[in-house]
Amino acid sequence: MIGLIANPIRTSKSPMMHNTAFEALGLDYVYLVFEVDNSTLEDTVKGLRAMKVRGFNVSMPNKGPVIQYLDEITPSAQLCQAVNTVVNDNGKLIGTNTDGLGFMQACQDLSMDIIGKKITVLGAGGAATAVCMQAALDGVAEISIFNSNDKFFSAAESNADRINEKTSCKAKAFFLEDTDRLRSEIESSAMLVNATGCGFGVPKGPCLIPDKSFLREDLMVFDVVYSPEETALLSMAKEVGCKCSNGIPMMLRQGAAAFKLWTGKDMPLDAVQAALAEISNK
Ligand code: NAD
Repeated sequence: MIGLIANPIRTSKSPMMHNTAFEALGLDYVYLVFEVDNSTLEDTVKGLRAMKVRGFNVSMPNKGPVIQYLDEITPSAQLCQAVNTVVNDNGKLIGTNTDGLGFMQACQDLSMDIIGKKITVLGAGGAATAVCMQAALDGVAEISIFNSNDKFFSAAESNADRINEKTSCKAKAFFLEDTDRLRSEIESSAMLVNATGCGFGVPKGPCLIPDKSFLREDLMVFDVVYSPEETALLSMAKEVGCKCSNGIPMMLRQGAAAFKLWTGKDMPLDAVQAALAEISNK
């Protein structure tokens, strides 16, 4: 058994992705979802360990707090201070983070080349941290991190500090409200990434970029939001002629990386993509 522990979680596409992949490969696994928050996290991890599950995914609000209940975490999880995938290695629970890998692999799949270049990332939560850390580890040259003046701003600053300290990438944190700075950082970037939850779940929802004069045709735009498939940011970017991606390729690739860790097998991406397309057409 593989589990997913998070709250809220009822709209997650992960069970469908993994169960489709298990079935396509004839693997005797099942992926189940459990609504768990920080108050029941410790007991849940103990229970999963006692039941000898093969592993589990972790989503908000448990990605950081779960670390204290695991036996080991990988360097990428250490750098992110967040775990989204746990593997039960003969009783030893090892936490890792595949969100950043998913982002970088998706960029590669889509020929969105950012290695050696500068990118601007909006956000400093779980997804943004994973994106920034993996990009820095993989050779992105510079990252400008923007966050609203909210409780996540200190994370933007500490993410920039950790990147500068632990990798050869150069990072700086800025307030999203400083629109002159936002404009100039985007101007000198090859890619703009929205890694905030802004726009999630709201068709034609809000957009953190004030208007299309902030974008240009040769800017790549990646929105990690996967629902709706076209956020207001992506609509604006398409109008300008930017090469774009929504969060679905990243979601697919972060899942495929976890699938490989649990089963040792490559996720059958065609079957999973077809199943994802079927539910999004309903
Ligand atoms: P989080 O709660 O850890 O972080 C939220 C971030 O968004 C913070 O930086 C916060 O300041 C910012 N934010 C939220 N609403 C905002 C608004 N209205 N204006 C400005 N900033 C705002 O959340 P998270 O886990 O990092 O998730 C962020 C998004 O990424 C969600 O939409 C989630 O679904 C998506 N996500 C996608 C993938 C994928 O594989 N595509 C993986 C993980 C998360």
